[in-house]
Amino acid sequence: MPQTVLITGASRGIGAAAALAFGRRGWQVGVNYLHSRRQAEEVCQAIRQAGGTAIPIQGDVSRSDEAGRTVETALSALGGLDALVCNAGIALPQMLLTDVTDDQWRGLFAADVDGIFYTCRAALPHFVRQKAGAVVTLSSMWGQTGGSCEVAYSAAKGAVIAFTKALAKEVGPSHIRVNCVCPGVIQTDMNAHLSPDDLEALRQETPLECLGEPSDVAEAIYYLCSPQSRFVTGQVLGVNGGMVI
Ligand code: NAP
Repeated sequence: MPQTVLITGASRGIGAAAALAFGRRGWQVGVNYLHSRRQAEEVCQAIRQAGGTAIPIQGDVSRSDEAGRTVETALSALGGLDALVCNAGIALPQMLLTDVTDDQWRGLFAADVDGIFYTCRAALPHFVRQKAGAVVTLSSMWGQTGGSCEVAYSAAKGAVIAFTKALAKEVGPSHIRVNCVCPGVIQTDMNAHLSPDDLEALRQETPLECLGEPSDVAEAIYYLCSPQSRFVTGQVLGVNGGMVI
């Protein structure tokens, strides 16, 4: 039986690269998206061309009902679920904390923290019943170290790390593994606002002297869902070129 994975926010960026990484290895992939239907369908098409199986699943994971429906759709369409990748997320423009509005703060936490809670809560009963499952959450190097003018994002991503560690302890006895990936600067739409000079400065700050590609993070996510990491849980894996050690 092929293995099955649901990846939230898989229409673009890291999530899309992760979907391809699983699909190319024969996994059946649920490609969740919010607005980018065409891109989600293109990701599914690329997976099918590589010989895999994929279905697009629309759903706003920041809403409890839609996150639950997204998980249920994946379970029925894929015929089960072996892994869940909680990747969907947004960032705010860089700004002083004193300029962050209530709506920006709540919107960020809804997408980056509530979304993980809702999708994990919906998927866990299934994982517990089958006494197996792997969950990967997406935090950030800012969640590890904190970033000036990124206080809200750092706080949300710090919550993701604590969530991951606590859940790993809670569900370990059910043979469910929960790990977290913390990307550094990865070239996706999320960083499209950065100027060439900004990107060059970030490259120079990075010990490996390059910026990350979505596929760099995708391979780490894949490893943490694969049987090769069967004894790894509750861990926080930086994929950042050495920017945060
Ligand atoms: P991205 O290119 O902006 O893509 C974000 C994805 O999340 C899109 O597929 C988007 O769907 C989806 N999404 C957003 N809100 C959603 C919601 N409420 N429900 C369902 N899907 C939603 O972002 P990325 O750079 O790949 O980032 C992926 C994850 O890595 C995020 O959690 C981000 O915080 C984290 N991260 C990224 C970096 C980086 O440098 N890029 C660094 C550290 C951490 P639509 O396309 O349909 O809108």
